[in-house]
Amino acid sequence: MNQKERIEQLFETGILPKEEMRALIEERDEESSEELFVKARIRKEENFGKDIYLRGLIEFSSYCRNDCFYCGLRRSNTKAQRYHLSKEDILTCARQGYALGFRTIVLQSGEDLSYSDEEIADIVRSIKKEMPETAVTLSIGEKTYEQYLLYYKAGADRYLLRHETADPVHYAKLHPSDLSFENRKRCLYDLKKIGYQVGAGMMVEAPFQTLDNLVEDLFFLKELQPHMIGTGPFIAHKDTPFKDMPSGGSELTIFLLGILRLMFPKVLLPATTALGTIDPYGREKGIMAGANVIMPNLSPKNVRGKYMLYDGKISTGEEAAESIEKIRKRMEAIGCHVKNVRGDAPGMGPENRQ
Ligand code: SAM
Repeated sequence: MNQKERIEQLFETGILPKEEMRALIEERDEESSEELFVKARIRKEENFGKDIYLRGLIEFSSYCRNDCFYCGLRRSNTKAQRYHLSKEDILTCARQGYALGFRTIVLQSGEDLSYSDEEIADIVRSIKKEMPETAVTLSIGEKTYEQYLLYYKAGADRYLLRHETADPVHYAKLHPSDLSFENRKRCLYDLKKIGYQVGAGMMVEAPFQTLDNLVEDLFFLKELQPHMIGTGPFIAHKDTPFKDMPSGGSELTIFLLGILRLMFPKVLLPATTALGTIDPYGREKGIMAGANVIMPNLSPKNVRGKYMLYDGKISTGEEAAESIEKIRKRMEAIGCHVKNVRGDAPGMGPENRQ
């Protein structure tokens, strides 16, 4: 097959044989990228029109018990600035987001054991009670089935847990031995079983990643059928074991967004902060390649610079929630409209909760 045939088949059927998927990525060039993005926009618009959904991201704790080799929040990073927000601080951020028009709040953190499960459930409950039209997404790492169930019963709607890489051997090169792909996968299937809208995804151009790894990621996602896929380039952090590893660029991530849109026409696909960090127009390019979600930062200004997953993470400019008007204008400039709605995955709105 040539690139045109591969893109046509992916567009029509949502899948390609593994070796053709690999070739599609390997042989990408300007012409095939543009062809892919045109088709991706068709699929996106069939399902979401020109709408862009917003998520207000509250990074509520930079403490982490884990030691992932790539992440600036890893517990061995003694230079990391640690903070955690109180329930009242989190509610204040959520209220500000609500006033700005956000109808999804994402609570993300390192794996900070200082919040009990009941405290997390109480924060979720309080947001839902005060702002019932708001969806709450959690992104707080690997937990047991019972813990996930408790948060769901408290009202959490969605959960983001990137699978990072679907190859257990590659996984072991990115994480210490107490973390495994097997457990990550177990978590993702537990979350789906409970009824969450589930987000998975991989880091692109992560250290030691091969093209075959990326193809495996795509096929793992096909099997999991997540409702959201978060994917962005790896960016090195100066105080981690991967400090000298080359960071990814925006081009491959954007190409993969186009593939993901054709594989998953109805998926919620963010143009991520990492993409906006590595490329000042990364988010626009991501949207033009099939993404339909952006996640501005709602954390209090005094802690934003402390949630440093990687060097140079943007935290004070137009990705900030207060700059919402600028974000709206930037989206209008590429023909898209930011909507003040929950933006659930199709068929997964509040009326479908179990
Ligand atoms: N602790 C939760 C978890 O593990 O899912 C949520 C927070 S974690 C910091 C969120 C995501 O940040 C990870 O899934 C990872 O993909 C991304 N991340 C961490 N370090 C990164 C880096 N150096 N470059 C790009 N992305 C990174």
